[in-house]
This record gives sequence, C-alpha cells and structure tokens, in this order.
Amino acid sequence: MTKHIFITGGVVSSLGKGLTAASLGMLLEARGLSIRMQKLDPYLNIDPGTMSPYQHGEVYVLDDGAETDLDLGHYERFTSGYLSKNSSWTTGKIYRNVLRRERKGKYLGKTVQVIPHITNEIKRAIWSLQGRDVDVVLTEIGGTVGDIESLPFLEAIRQFALDAGRGNCLFIHLTLIPYLKSSKELKTKPTQHSVSRLRQIGIQPDILVCRTEYPLNNTERDKIGLFCNLESRNVIEEKDADFSIYEVPITLHQHGLDQRVIEFFWRNLEYRNPPDLTAWFDILDRLRHPLHEVTIAVVGKYAKHKDAYKSIYESLDHAGIKNRVNVRVRGIPSDELDLRQLEDVNGILVPGGFGDRGVEGKIEAVRFAREQKIPFFGICLGMQCAVIEFSRNVVGFHEANSTEFEPAIPYPVITLMDAQRNVTDKGGTMRLGAQPTVLISTSLVFRCYGGTNISERHRHRFEFNNNYREQLQNHGLLIAGTSPDGKLVEVIELPNHPWFVGVQYHPEFKSQPTKPHPLFDGFIAAAVQQHEKQKTKE
Ligand code: GLN
Repeated sequence: MTKHIFITGGVVSSLGKGLTAASLGMLLEARGLSIRMQKLDPYLNIDPGTMSPYQHGEVYVLDDGAETDLDLGHYERFTSGYLSKNSSWTTGKIYRNVLRRERKGKYLGKTVQVIPHITNEIKRAIWSLQGRDVDVVLTEIGGTVGDIESLPFLEAIRQFALDAGRGNCLFIHLTLIPYLKSSKELKTKPTQHSVSRLRQIGIQPDILVCRTEYPLNNTERDKIGLFCNLESRNVIEEKDADFSIYEVPITLHQHGLDQRVIEFFWRNLEYRNPPDLTAWFDILDRLRHPLHEVTIAVVGKYAKHKDAYKSIYESLDHAGIKNRVNVRVRGIPSDELDLRQLEDVNGILVPGGFGDRGVEGKIEAVRFAREQKIPFFGICLGMQCAVIEFSRNVVGFHEANSTEFEPAIPYPVITLMDAQRNVTDKGGTMRLGAQPTVLISTSLVFRCYGGTNISERHRHRFEFNNNYREQLQNHGLLIAGTSPDGKLVEVIELPNHPWFVGVQYHPEFKSQPTKPHPLFDGFIAAAVQQHEKQKTKE
C-alpha cells in the first residue's frame, strides 16, 4: 500500500515548503523508497502558464508539457520520481474537471457542491499518483493554513486519511518560530495558533518542521510539543540555510526527519538503514571550497526578480559545483542595459522571455558577447535574439527581427511556423514539453552532450525562419541541431568564437546538483577559461 505524506504550511507564506518537501523526498529515495511528488495550489488559475513571473516566479515545464509551479523544479532537482500533469493541480483545474462533468450530466441531477464533489476531485488527484511501484506520495498543499482558498484542500486531505487509513497518511506542518530581538527569545505562539487552526479542521499534524533563525533547545521543543499535541521528538528544527539550499536536506536528516517518517510508517523495521548522503556532502564541500570564481551576466526582462529565472540560477550553480567554481550572477535588466556592466564578466546568458520590452538590450548584449569573444549562452528568446543580432550585424539585414515584436518586417528571421499562424488564443498554443533534437557531430554541443540524439523541453511559439537558413549559414552561423525531420532549428553556434551557443529549448529544466546539465557545465568551464585568459592579460 502506497503511503501518503501531506505537507502544509502555517504562520506565513514563503517558508520554503517546496524545498522542505523536496528534501524529504530526496532523503526517502536515499533510503531506497520509490516516491512521487505533487503540488496542490489553491489559486484559481488553471495552471501557472499565463501568470506573470513577477507574481509567481518562473513557469516550470515538465516532459509532458505541463506548465507548473516552480516548486516542481525543486522536486525534480532533488528527486527522480516521475512528474507529469498529475503532479500539479490548482483550484481552477479541479473546478474545471468538476464543471465539465456537470455539463455532461454525470452528476445525475444532483446539486454539485464543494463537499463532496470538489473534495472528491481533489482526492482523485491524490489517488492518481498511487501505484504498485510507488512507496510514498508526497503532496504539498500551497498557501497557508487559514486561507479561505485552502479549505477544500485541507478538508480533502482530512477525508483522504479516513479513506486510506490513518496509519498510511502522515501530516507534516511547516511553521515559523520567530525570534524577538527585544526579549532575545524564540516565540512559539504563532505555531501554536497555526496548529490549533489545523486541528479545528480535523487535522492533527504528526510532525512539525519549524523554520527558525536560531537552534531550538529542548525546553522550546517540549513546549511546542505540549501545546501542539505531539511528542517533542516530532518537533524538527529547520534552521535557515545561510550558505546554500543544499544544506536543507542534510539539516533535516541530522534532526531526524526521515527517521521519524520511517518509524511512523514502518515501525522502524524496514528502510531503517541510514541514507547514503555522500554525494550531498560532496556538493557542500565543493561549494565551500571553490577553486575559481566567475561572474555571469544574466541579461533579461526580470533580472532583478529572484524567482523569475530560478532554474537558470540553479543550473549555473550546479555547473559551478561540478567545476568547483563560485558562480556570481549579475542580473542586468535588459531595458536598462549599459554595456559597461558587461566589460568584466566571464560569460553572458540571455534567458527566455515573451514580449518586446528589453529585447533591443538583449540583442546588444549578444553583439557584445560575439564581438568581444565572451562565452555566450542564449536560451529560447535568447537564441532568437542571437539569430536577429547575427542577421543584422553580420549578414547585413539591418531590419531583421522576430514577427513577435514587429509583425510586418522585411527580414522576419524568427517567425511563426505554418501550424501556428492562425492561432490567436493564449492558452495551450505553444510548442510545449520534451521533443527530440539531433545534433551534428562536428558541433560544440555534440561534444558537451557526448552524443547526437537528445531530448529537451520546449515552451515557445516562434521559430527560426527556414527561408533564411542558407544565407545565415553562408555567413558562418552553424545550425548545430534540428528536429529529427530537419524542419525546426533547435541549436545555433558560432564556430569562430570560444563558446557561443543558442538553444530553442530550455536546458535549465533538466539540471540537477548531482548531475549538471552538459551545456551549463560547458558554459561555466568556458567562463573559467575566459577568466584565466583575462588574468594572464592583466
Ligand atoms: N517569445 C518567444 C516565443 O514564443 C520565446 C519564448 C521563450 O523564451 N520561452 O517563441
């Protein structure tokens, strides 16, 4: 029987529930369990695909094309359990399913209500991850206990424990223990209130994970246990990770989180061997003792927003871990670009994006990277900007652009392909999810990947315009990878440059701290070389 862990949050939002859930998933996998992870988000949008990165951070894309919350990125970076459309649910998606069924007459004339129809649909979403080969499903509930929107989800997981058996379901509640400077003490009252809120709904947490700036002592743990109705050993400290998020799983393990979970479900008879965390200790060691330092400029529309390019920042870190390099990121908003900000950097990355704001700044940044021979990595829109820049400044098509920004231009080097021309709706009209690419064996990317056949995730509408392929190639642009039928350009390179790569897909969704993405790895290695060269010049 698959076991279920539910992770809720209290006191304040942004406590890092996703990271805590992902860390626990990793620890359970390291103990030999097979897991699946899932996020239930209480907002009304059907999915985060149409939400602004300012509001919600990046949109994380899965192999099957699901556009999801960035917490699923933590899940994939920390664990290997397969994620799909069934791993991401919102109130909007739940209601849509119920209302579709109602329109088809499936409720046989009954009054359709939050309980049982919405709660049943939520329970169905949770059951959908159950499987013979799945030992544990971890379900994170977005939002904070006490939110109006969260109520149906909390009610559904309460009922779920009745259906699945209380012994098969474990409730973890993540709270904050604030430190009051004036009295120099940690305050447990907000946690008590949050747990009491949960208990009013009928959920008694089995484990409390407490985010805190300072370590909890036994007296504080006993007090929290007493007021929140659980044994104090089930009050687990999660001290702020000052240094790196990769400390979180280690800290949680050291405070016994995975041990408690194993004891709860298996009475300590199975899975009791401690997890092998060598790879994770090695990550921390590499982060603590880097051999080099490089500065990478990320030139994008949302460069000042810490979550908008989350997976890119994480992927740069992963490559830094592998190469033992401290990667400093300089976020430069592309609509305020001043080329002097790029003079001392060792690599320039232009990420994906939509809309024309800041595009000219990105194109300028590409030009600088190309001319100054600074390692360049263009991702999705970043690759499209590289094609536009090359067309304008190398080929001489001064009016080259993407039809996304100027629908009627003389040189539409980036444009909609035939199938997408007549689509005006914004939802679900993109090339989304994993698609194959074939690389040519003389390319730099082939050397990075170590093979010709790759699969990467996509999220875009516009494409390299094939009418211009020949002219751009004649001027030295290398089409290093295409779709297997050769019709869609996936990768471009400049052979007479130390490292200049543009990809139409999003490699950042497939990088893990223990297995960095080959292109980020190659980009950071090139940035180190550039740094060394600069040093010898000085
Ligand atoms: N706006 C571009 C397109 O739709 C690029 C999208 C992206 O960078 N994800 O093709």
